[in-house]
Amino acid sequence: MPDIQLLPETSAFLDRPHSQFIAGEAIAASGETFDVINPATEAAIATVGAASSDELNQAVAAAKTCFNDVWADFNPYARGQILNKLADLIEQNGEEIAQLETLSSGKSINLARLFEVQQSALFLRYFASWTTKINGETMQPSLPSMAGEKYSAFTLRQHIGVVAAIVPWNFPLMIAIWKLGAALACGCTVVLKPSEFTPLTVLKLAELARQAGLPDGALNIINGKGDIGEALVKHPDVKKVSFTGSVQTGMKVNQTAAQDMTRCTLELGGKNSAVLLHDADIDRAVGALLQLGYIHQGQVCAAPERIYVPNDRIDELLDKFSAALSQAPIGSPMDESNVFGPISNKPQYEKVLSYLQYAKDHGQLVYGGEPFDQDGLYITPALVKASSAEDVLMQQETFGPILTVMGYDDESELLELINNTPYGLGTSLWTNNLSAAMRMIPKIESGTVWINLHTMVDPAVPFGGVKQSGIGREFGSAFIDEYTELKSVMMAY
Ligand code: NDP
Repeated sequence: MPDIQLLPETSAFLDRPHSQFIAGEAIAASGETFDVINPATEAAIATVGAASSDELNQAVAAAKTCFNDVWADFNPYARGQILNKLADLIEQNGEEIAQLETLSSGKSINLARLFEVQQSALFLRYFASWTTKINGETMQPSLPSMAGEKYSAFTLRQHIGVVAAIVPWNFPLMIAIWKLGAALACGCTVVLKPSEFTPLTVLKLAELARQAGLPDGALNIINGKGDIGEALVKHPDVKKVSFTGSVQTGMKVNQTAAQDMTRCTLELGGKNSAVLLHDADIDRAVGALLQLGYIHQGQVCAAPERIYVPNDRIDELLDKFSAALSQAPIGSPMDESNVFGPISNKPQYEKVLSYLQYAKDHGQLVYGGEPFDQDGLYITPALVKASSAEDVLMQQETFGPILTVMGYDDESELLELINNTPYGLGTSLWTNNLSAAMRMIPKIESGTVWINLHTMVDPAVPFGGVKQSGIGREFGSAFIDEYTELKSVMMAY
């Protein structure tokens, strides 16, 4: 099928110069600029100004002023109404947002519509519903009275202040919404730094936020590379850092934030396992894992990268996976009939190719893994058979379209294999054997365990990692702890 037609609004947005969004205004670029590249063609599609340190200071100052003068005392119900209005505007501008996202990240247009538009709106409405439910508790102090007086105590949940939100390039708008929805719902204000590869949709979002009635300064966007992210984390007026990205950068961010005792939430990488138990329905698991493992070319933090299957069923699994992969169309992400598209950016493309070269050199590549003979950062999805639990492809996050399969015999060996990485984000068990699943769940070192599904992230269910996959939780009511400070009040009467 041909590519979909670009909306006139999409073309107009791409043609405009872009820079920072500070105190409710898109400001003109003041210095260095960088290009946004379409990974499907490798052509530049837009130009964005990188933030200077003055602009960074202006953005934090705008967020601080808005917090102190407006947003912290804003009526909670009215806060929720603005977030709901923003969700409506995301849907109303959905096709333009989806097109901008596909052009800058290479995500299929179908996925961009589903995740960056529909799910972003859904998550935002979830956070909006919390604004009126952020409460402390009353408690009865327990020590005995000294002279007949009585005591009472309660806690207040106080918004922390200016939040630095730093997001990666894989789901730039949706992950930005996870952070700013939570922060704004709690009464915090935000300075957001998108990845240099995918700044466009959050800039569009900032414009929509203003239209929704968000006060100037409540949401500010600064652009640039890692150095501006680091300067943001170091800023003395930033009271909380919410970071999603790689383990390597997350460790740096954590160290920088710790120097000022700035609170930090880290949502980092994973080397997630999908585990087929002895009774698993292989056809069902292959169908699901084909979607979940290779969605957005595997550039999903929670996507399965390691597949464990009983040794006597490994050949059946590899055959069925290879057959299914050969049927999945790959090509332009603006063509609605394609399932797979390009890798999102050149450094990630080169990283994936280097992992595939390793698999080839070690005789592990079972299917795919070839670059396409055309413009764009395309690689066919790959299937690898591991030689040992210590293989590079069983240990390191590739963040690419590579699933690595390994056999096992019994449950205790399997648990050791699952836990045998520094990561701990998500694990799925594929089984109808309730006893086995319930035995294994507490022993799996992972922030989430899914049964007969994988990668599902829901606003009502806390999400985050253990071990090197991160610190803190997003969603559910857990996000409230991350964006508020608990103040205790005690009184005698
Ligand atoms: P990076 O860690 O490279 O970058 C993440 C963000 O941090 C980008 O905006 C980046 O800017 C910025 N940054 C880079 N250096 C610094 C620094 N020193 N201080 C502050 N900010 C900095 O991750 P990627 O963008 O490559 O994203 C992929 C990674 O994200 C994968 O490991 C993936 O697993 C993880 N991820 C985790 C999720 C989770 O919820 N657990 C969800 C999605 C992804 P710039 O890009 O401009 O350099």
